[in-house]
Amino acid sequence: MKIGVIGGGQLGRMLALAGTPLGMKFVFLDPAQDACAATLGEHIHADYHDHEHLRQLADQVDMVTFEFESVPADTVAFLSQFVPVYPCAESLRIARDRLLEKNLFRSLAIPVAPFAAVDSQEELEQAVASIGLPAVLKTRTLGYDGKGQKVLREPADVAGAFAELGNVPCILEDFVAFSGEVSLIAVRGRDGTSKSYPLVHNTHRDGILRLSIASHQHPLQGLAEQYTASVLAHLDYVGVMAFEFFEIDGGLKANEIAPRVHNSGHWTIEGAECSQFENHLRAITGLPLGSTAKLGESAMINFIGSVPAIADLAAVADCHVHDYGKAFKDGRKVGHATVRSIDSAILQRQLAAISVLMAAGN
Ligand code: AMP
Repeated sequence: MKIGVIGGGQLGRMLALAGTPLGMKFVFLDPAQDACAATLGEHIHADYHDHEHLRQLADQVDMVTFEFESVPADTVAFLSQFVPVYPCAESLRIARDRLLEKNLFRSLAIPVAPFAAVDSQEELEQAVASIGLPAVLKTRTLGYDGKGQKVLREPADVAGAFAELGNVPCILEDFVAFSGEVSLIAVRGRDGTSKSYPLVHNTHRDGILRLSIASHQHPLQGLAEQYTASVLAHLDYVGVMAFEFFEIDGGLKANEIAPRVHNSGHWTIEGAECSQFENHLRAITGLPLGSTAKLGESAMINFIGSVPAIADLAAVADCHVHDYGKAFKDGRKVGHATVRSIDSAILQRQLAAISVLMAAGN
């Protein structure tokens, strides 16, 4: 089985690491010369709009999947003429646009913070008048890791904010005073069966995920599964989807979905019976889904900008290091580590040991 992947970053790389033992081969299409997945398969070095190379990809693979959601709609439509594409074009169309996404949640009775479409500075001012401050202005498309958004705290922040985000279609959301952020990683097969991993508690800084801790029997697990199941069924979704929620007043408010394997699910490589990467591949190729049960306590810490010395990380008990092989650069996700333990107090000590190495700039 040969799988085409649009994008050749760390998610593509971890898909290949999971699929190779299942006898799968991978072809990545990515414009970056130094795409970090390239060492694990073939690399078609081309732009996402390049029909000649997209056709070349489609001709040599059994199916195509994606490692990011901002794939141009035209790319998906073009590929779909020649080869099965998972998840489907409609899932990508919704997930890449924050307004369509929020409208979908609302139509499925999934709670969301008040929001409004904003296509000009004048509409921004009207939206602020009805939603109030603080609020978050976000570009509808192409935002990730806190990019393409601005928190508006006082009236002075509103002036010129639409231009600051590039005069592009936006959405204004009420600022949610959440008590925590959680995500549910779920997988749905081609036959409609689905499974979910335990809810993950996430900590972000500067809009970038830093730490994910897999929960132990979270009281909101059932509710998160119910909301996610309704989105999966509505989209007739195939593959792994991540659903990010804000935890507030003992309930959940939907933030966003990612139609792909997700950073907050990296712990599943060592921390669950079958990882999110293997389960995504099982789902799209029609294999039975693997168990999503957790193996003890797990947490994942992201390395942003640089990876501490491998020898130091390897000295931390039950620490599993992933260096993506990317050039180190401020603000860039270049690796992660997952720690596992039978006990959450020990897990905290393992995390503290890694934090010390990160702070020391090792
Ligand atoms: P996003 O790209 O929408 O996931 O936003 C990145 C991070 O910004 C989230 O994980 C939150 O920490 C924060 N954030 C986004 N939207 C809101 C909101 N409406 N209220 C409060 N914080 C938010």
